Parts: sequence; C-alpha cells; structure tokens
Amino acid sequence: MEVEVVDLRNSPTPGTGQGVGLPKRGEGGRDSCKCPVCGTIVSHSRGLPCTKQKCPKCGSPMVGA
Ligand SMILES: [Zn+2]
Repeated sequence: MEVEVVDLRNSPTPGTGQGVGLPKRGEGGRDSCKCPVCGTIVSHSRGLPCTKQKCPKCGSPMVGA
C-alpha cells in the first residue's frame, strides 16, 4: 500500500502539489466565485481556482468573489 506523506516542515514549492490540505492564497483560496458577466455567485471546492470554473448560467469563466 502506497501512502503519500506530506511533510509541512519541508513543503514543496506552492503550485507543484495538488493542494492536499493546503489551499493556496489568492486564487483557489476563496469560498465562493462570482460570474463577472451575470453576477451569479457559486461556492467552490478549495484548490480549484475560480478561473477554472465556469458560470452555471452563462458559461463564462468565474472570478474570485
Ligand atoms: Zn454568468
């Protein structure tokens, strides 16, 4: 059985990992995203930047709320 060990004392450069328990600041660190076009606000999973999500209504890229 293979177990991935994350050593916080020697954490890798942010951006290289998959954000296991360590949400990055800025993009991906917010709890909600907003559509700049129609104003829809949606919650999102941490670690997934708002800019990687699309508005459920109009399909535009989301931005951090
Ligand atoms: Zn929209």
